[in-house]
Amino acid sequence: MVHPMSAPATRGGKAHVTTLMQRLDKIILGSERHQRIRLRQWLIACVATAGCALFFAGGVFLGWMSWENLLILGVIEAIGQGLIYAALRSGFSLRFADPALTEWQTVLAIVAVDYAYMSAGSARHLALCPLLLVFTFGAFSLPWQRIARLTIFALASFLVSIAVMEWQRAPAIGWSLDSPEMLDDISALGMLLIVLPVISYVASRLSRLRSNLREQRVALASALEQVQRLAAYDELTGLANRRHAQDRLAPEHARAERSGTIFSVALIDLDHFKEINDTLGHAGGDRVLRAFADTVRDLLRGSDMVARWGGEEFLVLMPDSAGVDALATVDRLLQGVRGLRAAEGQPFSFSAGVTQYRRGEGFMEAVARADQQMYAAKHAGRNGVCLA
Ligand code: GH3
Ligand code: MG
Ligand code: MG
Repeated sequence: MVHPMSAPATRGGKAHVTTLMQRLDKIILGSERHQRIRLRQWLIACVATAGCALFFAGGVFLGWMSWENLLILGVIEAIGQGLIYAALRSGFSLRFADPALTEWQTVLAIVAVDYAYMSAGSARHLALCPLLLVFTFGAFSLPWQRIARLTIFALASFLVSIAVMEWQRAPAIGWSLDSPEMLDDISALGMLLIVLPVISYVASRLSRLRSNLREQRVALASALEQVQRLAAYDELTGLANRRHAQDRLAPEHARAERSGTIFSVALIDLDHFKEINDTLGHAGGDRVLRAFADTVRDLLRGSDMVARWGGEEFLVLMPDSAGVDALATVDRLLQGVRGLRAAEGQPFSFSAGVTQYRRGEGFMEAVARADQQMYAAKHAGRNGVCLA
């Protein structure tokens, strides 16, 4: 019979194991996203290395590998991988063009494969298999030039390895191209000469594909950012456009409905703008619109928002402002912009309508009321602000 307490205890135990794993994961891989990707790749390489070590340990049992050579191989890998891990985990590798140290990891693997080939006796051809695995790692991050360089290094170092083996064998049997071992080694070299360049070519193509994808992703992200900016902001003044203003009004309205907060809106229409266009030309009118936008933006609080509602009409949203406070704010704006065309000796002003949002109405009703007040200000002789 299952004890009623056993289920929560098991769950508690599982949770304990999970937190322990999470802590271990954080200690080994850290928390920086890119660094974690590099260290995870290093971890995969270590698992592959451990698998190969197991294979060679089997060779000690089967008699084609000496345990001394296995130990030397283990020490080479342990020191190499340890140094690479330290460089990755400490952030030391970030100063290099290849911060994942893929090239150094590949060099280490090639040296280990060469040593394994020299030590694995009759099974030495099998020791070459990991070499094919090594080059697939390069495909993740190395440009083709580096992959080509590593291929040449792999072939050259293998040539040196078989030369060393021959030199060790020479005193016993003398130099001869006809010795069965020599023929075996030359056959292995021949196969590597065919297979390695092809694998490297495929790896470099994959690497190029990946970097193309990365470039496309960056270009797409920047295009998306530009589209979002164009969709939300007015190109001439840099202010929020009508759509973005409505997107800001909606949550403010929802907040007011839900929590009873207050906000006010103002509609501003520049006075006699046709005349400004007539005297300064359309480009001059644009300059005035930009100067107006800059001035108003500077004079408003950070939580307020000014948007280009259309043409030479602007909407100001003032969260947490009662109607009278909003009136004072828009009056301050009017004082601020009056000097804009002082240099040309021409008056510059606007007419504005201000209203506080009334609970229960839609936000466009408040905007319409501000619009009516703006027209009231126009009829009252312009250059003024009316509060609903
Ligand atoms: P009122 O005091 O009654 O508002 O007079 P107004 O001349 O401003 O009249 P109205 O609002 O009808 O005219 C607005 C003018 O603003 C007409 C239009 O050509 C001009 N305008 C609208 N958008 C732009 C723009 O982006 N650049 C320029 N230069 N002018 C614009
Ligand atoms: Mg107008
Ligand atoms: Mg106007």
